[in-house]
Amino acid sequence: MIDFPDDFLTILHSARRVAVLTGAGISKESGVPTFRDKDGLWSKYDPQELATVQAFRDNPQLVWEWYLYRRNIIDGVEPNPGHFALVEMERRYDDFTLITQNVDSLHRRAGSQKVLELHGNIARNKCFNCGAPYEGEISVEDGEIPCCSCGGRIRPDVVWFGEMLPEQVLNEAFEASSQTELFFSIGTSALVHPAASMPLTAKRNGAYLVEVNLEPTPLTDLCDFFIHGPSGEILPEMVARLSE
Ligand SMILES: [Zn+2]
Repeated sequence: MIDFPDDFLTILHSARRVAVLTGAGISKESGVPTFRDKDGLWSKYDPQELATVQAFRDNPQLVWEWYLYRRNIIDGVEPNPGHFALVEMERRYDDFTLITQNVDSLHRRAGSQKVLELHGNIARNKCFNCGAPYEGEISVEDGEIPCCSCGGRIRPDVVWFGEMLPEQVLNEAFEASSQTELFFSIGTSALVHPAASMPLTAKRNGAYLVEVNLEPTPLTDLCDFFIHGPSGEILPEMVARLSE
């Protein structure tokens, strides 16, 4: 049993506006490797060199092979109890905003209705040139990467290193962070901006700040409550307390 402090339980029950930011930690509990995990087949490549505009310009086939490999891994995993607990929270609160840095659709697959995907979605494709969505299948075995009607090559619809985050999604995420009464930072290192500024924005505007993580982060000292452990165990227990 987790020993939840009284002030946390009070706000957990009374809050109407709740915002949650999730990162790689919650996906990792489902078996999605993080960027930092080195994995046999691709171990000689640095993800920070594959997930860039320049890498795609230089060798789109290589970048696509890596993304198709990652899509395949993601297709084979399932949402975990932490994802499902967040679906319950969305049902429970009048105003609930789920912001994620993950590109794997696991929140949606669990049943979350509204998800702000800061870094795009690995299952979607778009034009490298004009950004138009592309619905067709991608197969790069023959080296033929499909093109948009504008002539641009099709790329994964994710945010690469050095790229801007989607503006509207970002605005909605900051708006929710500034208006929320209770903010959860879950499974994220709290290092990468602009996502890292969201809990700070919430705190500055008077929200109660909670962090759920396997290890302390730069955010931990600023939190009202830090819960150490896997989100897949902590969030379901928290949701159970919510229904008491
Ligand atoms: Zn195009």
